[in-house]
Amino acid sequence: MKDFTILAHNYVRPEVQAMADFVGDSLELAQKAKLVTTEYLIFAGVDFMAEMAAIVNPSKKVIHPEPFSMCAMASRVTPEMILAARKDYPKAAVVTYVNSSAAVKAVSDIICTSANAVKVVNSLEEKQIIFTPDRNLALYVARNTDKQVIPVPALGCCPVHHSLTVQDIQDRLAEYPGAEVIVHPETIPEVQDVANFIGSTSAMARHAKTTTAKVIIVGTEVGMLTRLKKESPDKIFVAASPLLSCADMKMITVEKIEAAIRAKAPIVQVDPVIAEGARRALERMLAVS
Ligand code: SF4
Repeated sequence: MKDFTILAHNYVRPEVQAMADFVGDSLELAQKAKLVTTEYLIFAGVDFMAEMAAIVNPSKKVIHPEPFSMCAMASRVTPEMILAARKDYPKAAVVTYVNSSAAVKAVSDIICTSANAVKVVNSLEEKQIIFTPDRNLALYVARNTDKQVIPVPALGCCPVHHSLTVQDIQDRLAEYPGAEVIVHPETIPEVQDVANFIGSTSAMARHAKTTTAKVIIVGTEVGMLTRLKKESPDKIFVAASPLLSCADMKMITVEKIEAAIRAKAPIVQVDPVIAEGARRALERMLAVS
């Protein structure tokens, strides 16, 4: 009997998605990781996702097939930056996007994903929110709640999503007149302003099934097109820009997963004290979701 479960993020290569037991976004994967019953959990995604799986399900051995697959946005924030922000805004709650290290999660009040950021922030009593590390998602939350949202760091962003421009959208619309535009909230506000729909990748997948549009321009990492095409084969999906490709997600390959399964390594290790702090903030999010 198989003693491992493969969880894969929507942004990994199509052939990696094809060999996974479950493909989803960060929230779906965190919820799924909690339920895994096999001894080993192979995580096809970037470092913080594998770390998160180890935190929510400490009884399992989590294997990250490529430890150098690291999220460029997550590496922009440190626990020290959050502790300094807490001193500047002592009445604020710290809401940390899941794209962050376990050490940053451990000094946070609650975690959120792009799927539940507005819901998580609205669940808090505090009027001031320190939001880390994505300023674009922070702005999206500010627009959709009545909270004062303080992005930390001020210029934190995902370099992939942040690269998408309004001109890219206009170019695709010129090629596909009348197409619908769906974008991720990690894109810049100007791009969000010209979109027909803004949402996480799981929200995009749900929306694609119900929209009457036949052609959809997709403003998120290109790996998502694999899931969209599979789940909505009657629609045409077009990448908003060929540059929307995350090099770190693409570092996870079939060969590396097969080698990791054979070696049963490398196992993700999280400092127990940090894991406990991060788990508290993650569990608080899962209770809201
Ligand atoms: S797409 Fe952006 S946020 Fe996602 S893993 Fe890559 S760098 Fe990080």
